[in-house]
Amino acid sequence: MGTSESAEHPNSEFIREVAAVSGVDIRPCYQCQKCSAGCPVSGAMDLLPNQVIRQIQYGRREKVLASRSIWVCASCQTCSVRCPNAIDFARVMDGLRHLAMHSEVSPAEKEIPLFHRAFLDSIRSTGRVHELSLIMRFKLKTRGFLKDASLGWEMFRRGKIKVLPPGTTGGNEVKAIFDACEKGAGQ
Ligand code: SF4
Ligand code: SF4
Repeated sequence: MGTSESAEHPNSEFIREVAAVSGVDIRPCYQCQKCSAGCPVSGAMDLLPNQVIRQIQYGRREKVLASRSIWVCASCQTCSVRCPNAIDFARVMDGLRHLAMHSEVSPAEKEIPLFHRAFLDSIRSTGRVHELSLIMRFKLKTRGFLKDASLGWEMFRRGKIKVLPPGTTGGNEVKAIFDACEKGAGQ
């Protein structure tokens, strides 16, 4: 455990911050571990879902925001459905990713946050995901231009990647959602 974060009080500021960003109060968690037992990607996590909650309760903000777990979470909702205390842990993970994106903490996974950012930017600009622009945004951020090039070409050849973005009628509404989220988060 890190020694720089010594405030291990159950009513930590971090609990309130997580509640504010996710709308979820994690205090009722009694560490039954049902969330972790059902998580399909727990094998790739450095902190299991119940351990993430414990670390939040301890106020270990930096450790949680720098964890690999918040980025490998697939948002499948299994943990939320299994929790006997109705703690929506999938939403907690969403909130933690948001906090990590807007913090100075260096992420354990470098590329996933960049893909997350590129994904959101793509939706914001076109109203829905356009794979080609998403890939280009991601490649510009990671500078890995040739990585997965053969896979990308194969997908393009099979018509899985469209050159032009799909038509959408809800672009302004999508932008308004992003603006409202940023305003609500105090950005
Ligand atoms: S299932 Fe719910 S109560 Fe059990 S450890 Fe996970 S979050 Fe806590
Ligand atoms: S939402 Fe994330 S943490 Fe919860 S079970 Fe699915 S992958 Fe695991």
